[in-house]
Amino acid sequence: MAQWRDRVAAAPLAAGVGGAGAAAALAAAGAAPLVAALIGAGCGLAVAAGLARLSPPPGAPPRRAAPRPAADALPPGVGRDLLERLPLGLLLLDESSRVMFQNAAALEMIERRVIDMPAAAALRAPALTEAVSAAYEHDRASDLDVTLLRGKDRVLHATVRPLPQDRTPSGDQRTPTVLVMLEDRTRAAKAEALRRDFVANASHELKTPLASITGFIETLQGHAKNDPEATERFLAIMARQAARMKRLVEDLLSLNRIEINEHVRPRHPVDLAALVWEISAGLTPQVAAEGARIAVELPREGLNVLGERDELAQVFVNLLDNAVKYAGDAGPIRVHLADPADARPGMVGVTVADSGPGIAREHLPRLTERFYRVDVARSRERGGTGLGLAIVKHILSRHRGDLTVTSAPGQGARFTVWFPALKDARAGAEGAAVAG
Ligand code: ADP
Repeated sequence: MAQWRDRVAAAPLAAGVGGAGAAAALAAAGAAPLVAALIGAGCGLAVAAGLARLSPPPGAPPRRAAPRPAADALPPGVGRDLLERLPLGLLLLDESSRVMFQNAAALEMIERRVIDMPAAAALRAPALTEAVSAAYEHDRASDLDVTLLRGKDRVLHATVRPLPQDRTPSGDQRTPTVLVMLEDRTRAAKAEALRRDFVANASHELKTPLASITGFIETLQGHAKNDPEATERFLAIMARQAARMKRLVEDLLSLNRIEINEHVRPRHPVDLAALVWEISAGLTPQVAAEGARIAVELPREGLNVLGERDELAQVFVNLLDNAVKYAGDAGPIRVHLADPADARPGMVGVTVADSGPGIAREHLPRLTERFYRVDVARSRERGGTGLGLAIVKHILSRHRGDLTVTSAPGQGARFTVWFPALKDARAGAEGAAVAG
């Protein structure tokens, strides 16, 4: 190992980044010993492959016959492939703090190629830049969580390790190089945030019906004990409150499920038109009971997107449920293809439009926030949880879709859901032909 490390300064994968160094850094970072061993072998081989073409530095002792590779050595050239395939994001920084190697996982996490860029510009996270500086200036190792603001606010765990310094053949100390390892912890961070939300918001939402149920239990145990009429009335209210709590818990759980999978893109083709027709038929009794009517103006089939069928069904159930809740018998609830004027290239849009009271402009940007309601009392009275549109938003985000809302007081509301159009449903299973 010492032989190739002496010559590595001139190699493409550069200065002082040795397999042993990377392996030691990984091991120190708590990476699995197997991964550490692999990266050690990988770095060594990658660099060794680059070195094969180099002649010995001037003044170096004559080259001895190459030692026989150990029986378990990897074939030449495998090292770089191995680093590329590691699920851990790797950035190797050269002596001047520029990125000289970025593996595929780091490309996916940072969402752009940063080779040759200064670390500060490549990482765009002040805490991480500071940790890199500390590695150079004080030989300090750091572990930290950072949020990359590019793309979808990713939470990364970064492990920064100065690589062992060695000396040039003339005895000068080399400027250190630095290894940055990145692990995507976005999912874990989201789940954590969701748990916090659950405690804060759900407990608040559950408190009211729970207090009401507790109050009625006391009444029934007390002065209404022998009053069958009051008992019946109170039990009906308690049943309504319990149903509200149940809906709330169901919505929270479903939001939780959707959030956990939000970064996993669905791969199966789903026909939105057929789905909407099916949902609309299934809802007919409840809709009719509210004096409302749904008019589906879509083709019977052929509106394909890549999706998770149950989640897409939930999107339309929630939008139709809202239209029925807030617009009721004000006129038919129309479900149609988005207006060509609003069309987005490569996207297919389906609009749910009602003729209800509409929504004032200032509320529109906040409708998809959890527990945000324009009129809390009305939402509660109609059985709302304040989570319906948040669920819609998260499902659309998973489907790389979007929601647009246009409305004005007294002019009804139009909710349009957009999805990347799938040109050929048969290609969908392979995840290929997505337009846009
Ligand atoms: P909720 O369970 O309260 O209906 P949502 O997240 O589904 O929660 O909707 C958030 C708020 O958006 C509702 O409380 C309501 O104020 C408003 N809203 C949603 N859909 C409509 C609609 N079709 N017409 C008028 N207001 C609506």
